[in-house]
Amino acid sequence: MPILFLLGAKTGLLVQWTGWSHEGYNILHRHVGRVVCTAAVLHVFFYSLACPIEVMVHVTTIFVALLAVIGFFLILISSIAPLRAKTYELFLLLHVYGVVAILPLLYFHFERVRPYVITSAVIFLWDRINRFRNAQHVIAHTTILSGNTVKLSLNVNSTTREIHWKTGQYVYVSISSLAKQQAHPFTIASAPNPNTLDLIIRARKGFSKSLFLSEAPEHKVTFHGPYGSPPTFEGCDRVILLAGGAGISYAYPEAIELASSTGHYAAANPEVDFLWVVPSRDFSSWVDLKEDYNVDFKVWVTAEQGRPDIKKYVKDSIIAAGPGARVAVAVCGPAPLVRDSRNACSEMLWEGNNVVFYSENFGW
Ligand SMILES: Cc1cc2nc3c(=O)[nH]c(=O)nc-3n(C[C@H](O)[C@H](O)[C@H](O)COP(=O)(O)OP(=O)(O)OC[C@H]3O[C@@H](n4cnc5c(N)ncnc54)[C@H](O)[C@@H]3O)c2cc1C
Repeated sequence: MPILFLLGAKTGLLVQWTGWSHEGYNILHRHVGRVVCTAAVLHVFFYSLACPIEVMVHVTTIFVALLAVIGFFLILISSIAPLRAKTYELFLLLHVYGVVAILPLLYFHFERVRPYVITSAVIFLWDRINRFRNAQHVIAHTTILSGNTVKLSLNVNSTTREIHWKTGQYVYVSISSLAKQQAHPFTIASAPNPNTLDLIIRARKGFSKSLFLSEAPEHKVTFHGPYGSPPTFEGCDRVILLAGGAGISYAYPEAIELASSTGHYAAANPEVDFLWVVPSRDFSSWVDLKEDYNVDFKVWVTAEQGRPDIKKYVKDSIIAAGPGARVAVAVCGPAPLVRDSRNACSEMLWEGNNVVFYSENFGW
């Protein structure tokens, strides 16, 4: 149990001690979670073979374990990927409140499990306290964009501590006037700066739709983060950035940072090959594609130009980097864009090119 909690904490000890990304060990958290939940369910199942359920419900120490196992079972089921995607809020609710209920139940189940329960509770509380301390309250302005999208610009020069972020990181945003008790992750769509943190938010069905439909020009926003350990492109001669629609949130600040003479890559700016695929021309107003950023921002409008041949694009760009060049391909967008660019990279790798591939997903 403590390992499961340690791996699930966003701000907890593992992040602080190791500096590892939360997303990396979240995969381990899922595997350990499946083992813990399945073991709990099997434990009760085999126990019930020896002790009938009518007897179990009359013994308090066993009855609390039965309740805990129901909690484990619900968490396990709600975590199955398609169910989680469909009912994310329920998944979260069960994850947080389920855990709060399970721990005391297990504490009263059996004396020997208490040290593990207490350790798990401490890790859980530590993470929650950290998130609470990390939270900032700011005013954010909204700009309605084409394609059911809204830009939320957080005024980060009014925070109680300086907010530093790296390109590719994300924050959790809550707007209680639109959705109570909800925090949604969004990739930071602006290059690091001390004043404004932009988020480009595609309206879906819940919170994001309410934000898009809200007529208020500004909102009181609580956010925490930044989180995430996106890759850096040191040592690369060329970085091919591919974005599809809202994937620009990742590619845009990354391109500016890669080309900037003052940012992280100032010492050796790699060449940037930037391509943003959008359904119609008006999408290009989402971000400021200024020439003075020293990036050749290429926008591919599918309504006018048809679907791009991404495989060919990536291969040609890798070849253009020259023999022996180290090329990174970073993509954020719909599944076909990611698939085609990944396939192109693997074919080029097979042919002996020095290529690394990275895909940024808007999901876990
Ligand atoms: C690391 C990360 C970065 C992201 N960056 C962006 C971005 O820059 N721009 C953008 O438009 N979207 C981004 N997303 C997706 C965004 O978080 C969801 O679209 C948003 O939370 C949907 O909220 P909703 O209530 O409108 O969702 P719903 O319409 O209820 O659901 C739409 C989808 O969003 C998922 N979802 C709902 N709530 C959450 C949540 N709290 N956390 C994670 N997923 C959730 C659901 O499972 C479902 O698949 C990102 C997601 C992640 C995990």
